[in-house]
Amino acid sequence: MTTSAANGSNQRPVVIDASQLRKMYGQTVAVDDVSFSVHVGEIFGILGPNGAGKTTTVECIIGLRRPDAGTIRVLGLNPESDQDREELHTLVGAQLQVSALPAKLTVRENLDLYRSFYSHPADGAELVSLLGLGDKLDSSYKDLSGGQKQRLAVAVALIGQPKIAVLDEMTAGLDPQARRDTWELIEGIRARGVTILLVTHYMDEAQRLCDRVALFDQGRIVALGTPSELVAEAGGGKHVTFVPSGPFDDRLLTDLSDVTGVEHQGPRVVVTGTGELVNAVIQTLAANGVTAEDVTTGSATLEDAFLRLTGRHIHERDEANV
Ligand code: ADP
Ligand code: MG
Repeated sequence: MTTSAANGSNQRPVVIDASQLRKMYGQTVAVDDVSFSVHVGEIFGILGPNGAGKTTTVECIIGLRRPDAGTIRVLGLNPESDQDREELHTLVGAQLQVSALPAKLTVRENLDLYRSFYSHPADGAELVSLLGLGDKLDSSYKDLSGGQKQRLAVAVALIGQPKIAVLDEMTAGLDPQARRDTWELIEGIRARGVTILLVTHYMDEAQRLCDRVALFDQGRIVALGTPSELVAEAGGGKHVTFVPSGPFDDRLLTDLSDVTGVEHQGPRVVVTGTGELVNAVIQTLAANGVTAEDVTTGSATLEDAFLRLTGRHIHERDEANV
């Protein structure tokens, strides 16, 4: 595991520090020796498959659960202390995985309710226009679409003008367009100076949004760093996919030093490797009378990194992560 960050965020003050956290539910070890720090202004990702211990970890950080071992400081405060926790609630806004708002209240009524909990709440109208809910103010919560409900949950998390926002699986169950809109929203929130702790099981989401990611598996952090560091450490790698103009012997490619694998998927061939992979593959085929058609290339992703680190695929299904 590495803890380096290439983007200079390590020079900024630490706003969340978790050290050697452990949490058991009966005999189940949900969180096991988890340590990480989040710097001010970061989007820090807690990424991993269902059951990895992500929600339990953030619930400990915001003081909803007490860890069995380890220490936590959030903006210098201890979420295990009753006194500190009260102050923390004004500094940390959370959109939790299970959160559901009062169904019959309208968007406006929900916002007013939550505004009343804070002494210095955000301007509700401004927040609502930022979140694109301006024309939904008089709609009941129960009549909102999935994406609109998520947006309102984010609005509620931000209404107290928090320094830190904790967002747990906020795009689970959304359609692709709503997910992309939500990503832009998160970037907009960060641009306003809010540090974001983002929990997700979507690899692409973490890769797109997060400055640094802690990759969770079975209660532990298996890797920590920027998305590109994690990809590089897991072997990096590239892939090229093409349709060959005719049959060829795989050994032409597997004999190349830059090639690590050759796989046939129907008419397509997927070659993985490093270095000058694409040129090497295309030239070798051409030298043997085979043309590579319909060529696409790509670099390894966090998904590949997770597979390399754990030997398993993270299951990405567009359903609620419960
Ligand atoms: P994630 O958010 O990564 O899906 P969780 O933190 O929700 O993971 O769960 C971690 C592990 O703890 C899982 O094995 C889960 O079944 C278990 N767990 C979570 N919450 C409870 C609970 N309230 N009681 C008992 N077991 C729980
Ligand atoms: Mg969870």
